[in-house]
Amino acid sequence: MPHEEINPGLIRVHGRQDENGMSNSSFIILDEKVAIIDTGLKGELWKEVIDVIKKNGRNPKQDLKHILLTHEHPDHFGSATELKNESGGEISAHSASAETMREPSLLVTKHFDASQGSSGLTPKLKAAFGRVTAVNPDSILVGGEKIELGLSTLTVIHTGSHCGGHVMFYDDYRRALFAGDDIVESPSNPCKYMIDLTGSAERKELVLNRLLGLKIDLLAPSHDSPSIGGSVKEQISRAIDANDVWKREVYDAVNRLGEATTDEIAGSVEEALGLDWSGDLKSVASTLTTAAYLRALSAKRRVAESDNKKSGRPLWVIR
Ligand SMILES: [Zn+2]
Repeated sequence: MPHEEINPGLIRVHGRQDENGMSNSSFIILDEKVAIIDTGLKGELWKEVIDVIKKNGRNPKQDLKHILLTHEHPDHFGSATELKNESGGEISAHSASAETMREPSLLVTKHFDASQGSSGLTPKLKAAFGRVTAVNPDSILVGGEKIELGLSTLTVIHTGSHCGGHVMFYDDYRRALFAGDDIVESPSNPCKYMIDLTGSAERKELVLNRLLGLKIDLLAPSHDSPSIGGSVKEQISRAIDANDVWKREVYDAVNRLGEATTDEIAGSVEEALGLDWSGDLKSVASTLTTAAYLRALSAKRRVAESDNKKSGRPLWVIR
């Protein structure tokens, strides 16, 4: 797997690409204490990470102190236990993430379940979630913690937007933000918009807008190339736009369809945006994201569930 130094002492390790051209990055911070942010899919990245740490003259057993996880989706914590076993480093995750990491069956029932009117998970994705191995974080984050590495101190920012336990890490030394899945650029990647059942469209809007006020010289999302300098704000602005676009399209679709299920609204949004996703996340990402915006619009009393149902599923109308 390739890796490169994106800033002195900061190395990005790329994971395997999936059918959407999406790969998971892990970031190694080589400070007095070594830290890694995210650990990719199970069995993938950890050997490369250990190798890179050794090639930089450091001893993983002694130096790798922190294994920091942005959130509870399996492409972000897959190799955490292997890395811990190779290093003795402490695994840290948000309390909501830790619950799912310890009990991965929650990925289906709590995060991606079909009961919200969605067409649900494909059997392949359900089986893949069923194979996820539990990880037991040592340190539980709630947001606001400072993790001192040496030159860098990382501040934990709980976002709760892409999913309930999502956090970002801000490195004050290099003014770098490790943004996890709250900022995804590639239009071919369903994660660009994705909010699961535990996440929040309102939180996403709030968090992304707050980031515009933070001094960020290096933005490091999990699934995109990092952006540096002046392009950072542009990338955040594009993420804000993507959020606004989906919200607007959900409202317009309800308006257009009159009375419709979440699935029907999601299909209409996909068509309006001309999305061409493939892979197993396609329909579930679209429906769950639409459900998240329906929750947000409903809280603002702009849409509501009608008294009618279609095949037992709720129907949404304009208020
Ligand atoms: Zn994710």
